[in-house]
Amino acid sequence: MNLTPGNNDFSEAIENDRTHVWHHLSQHKRYETSDPMVVIEGKGMRVWDARGREFLDAVSGGVWTVNVGYGRETIADAVREQLVRLNYFANTAGNVPGAQFAGKLIGKMPGLSRVYLSNSGSEANEKAYKIVRQIAHNKYGGKKHKILYRERDYHGTTITALSSTGQIQRKGQYGPFTPGFVEVPHCLEYRSQYGDCADYGEKAARAIEDVILREGPDTVGAIVLEPITAGGGVITPPEGYWPTVQEICRKYDILLHIDEVVCGVGRTGKWFGYQHYDIQPDIVTMAKGVASGYAAISCTVTTEDVFNEFKSDPADPMSYFRDISTFGGCAAGPAAALENMRIIEDENLLENTTAMGGYLLDRLHMLKERHELIGDVRGKGLFCGVELVKDRASKEPVDESTAQAIVADCMSNGVIIGATNRSFDVYNNTLCLSPALICTKDDLDAIVDAIDNALARVSA
Ligand code: PMP
Repeated sequence: MNLTPGNNDFSEAIENDRTHVWHHLSQHKRYETSDPMVVIEGKGMRVWDARGREFLDAVSGGVWTVNVGYGRETIADAVREQLVRLNYFANTAGNVPGAQFAGKLIGKMPGLSRVYLSNSGSEANEKAYKIVRQIAHNKYGGKKHKILYRERDYHGTTITALSSTGQIQRKGQYGPFTPGFVEVPHCLEYRSQYGDCADYGEKAARAIEDVILREGPDTVGAIVLEPITAGGGVITPPEGYWPTVQEICRKYDILLHIDEVVCGVGRTGKWFGYQHYDIQPDIVTMAKGVASGYAAISCTVTTEDVFNEFKSDPADPMSYFRDISTFGGCAAGPAAALENMRIIEDENLLENTTAMGGYLLDRLHMLKERHELIGDVRGKGLFCGVELVKDRASKEPVDESTAQAIVADCMSNGVIIGATNRSFDVYNNTLCLSPALICTKDDLDAIVDAIDNALARVSA
């Protein structure tokens, strides 16, 4: 079938979609009276749907994934070449793209040394939790099994990944949860819990130490944190936060696990988000941007010290990591990921991300001067959030319907943006922008202009 937008009749696909496909994160009632969107093609920053509509995509595939943009033929070529040579063998053995990718990736992550491959961000995080738990069993007699996570952070969709997620609206209906996960407070300065103070970041980090002391440091094995909270409201960390978190982890012998599923592989202008903050994690997980959605691949990366815990006693059958991910052996993943990294390097996309991210943030700050609805603008690289409030003094968040109306207005004008949902107990009505790392000033102008117009229409 020739998928030229507008030239085909996709009514059968639309009807099959409406009748048989269960969409993610979607209330299907509305498809009784309207068509579901069926996306048929993408090129660069743009996608087309089955009705021939063209969209400028400001969220890289809806969920900050397609970092190098759509329609990359060299990634498709690399994947095809690998598939006909060797599509699969379990990762109990190595394969050539897997080995090459691991070497290249570790070259971007000083202090880390081992890459464990799986398929999704949730799975990568589950591997990390299993690593922490096994170390607790083998080294600490079952103690140090608790894992801290932060209010408003998200770590995935499986029950245990949800157990470590600080967003009640995404987990509330799926309990009971895996025991041993303990929440620490968020660090969003705009919604300061510690008053107006110069050392807000330090105070927010010390709140983690309070939890550790309450739980007992000898029971806590790790803390998992997003470098910049994504779905919980694009929360950039306050000054001084990360060095204090690192210091606390070292003080109590707690592994620092950074979830780079969103920030990883260029999104913030460095290879990894944590690299802005001069810290050294013990475990890093990543997924979405690793192969920009051209293949399913995720990674759990550890230091050699963590890895060495799993070969301490070769005579003990319980000492090695007794874990496997069948599709972690799909060779298409690392083949796509290698080419994805080459593109980022050869096209100077980290530099473009820093430059364009700065431009986007400036334009959003200018937008804030024109629209009372904007309470706060935050971001790093091509990863920005615009928090909407009814009133700047009280900071009362707008109703969810307002953010959704802005998203819908942009969409009807050909620009796809995102928005976090307002939680029951967390204010996070935030517009999200994460365009591909290839974007230009013209693309960003079109995105910001669409939001500008939408804000004007919706507030009127
Ligand atoms: N961690 C973070 C920070 C995420 O944003 C997500 C997905 N939105 C995940 C983990 C889970 O990734 P996946 O959907 O691939 O399981």
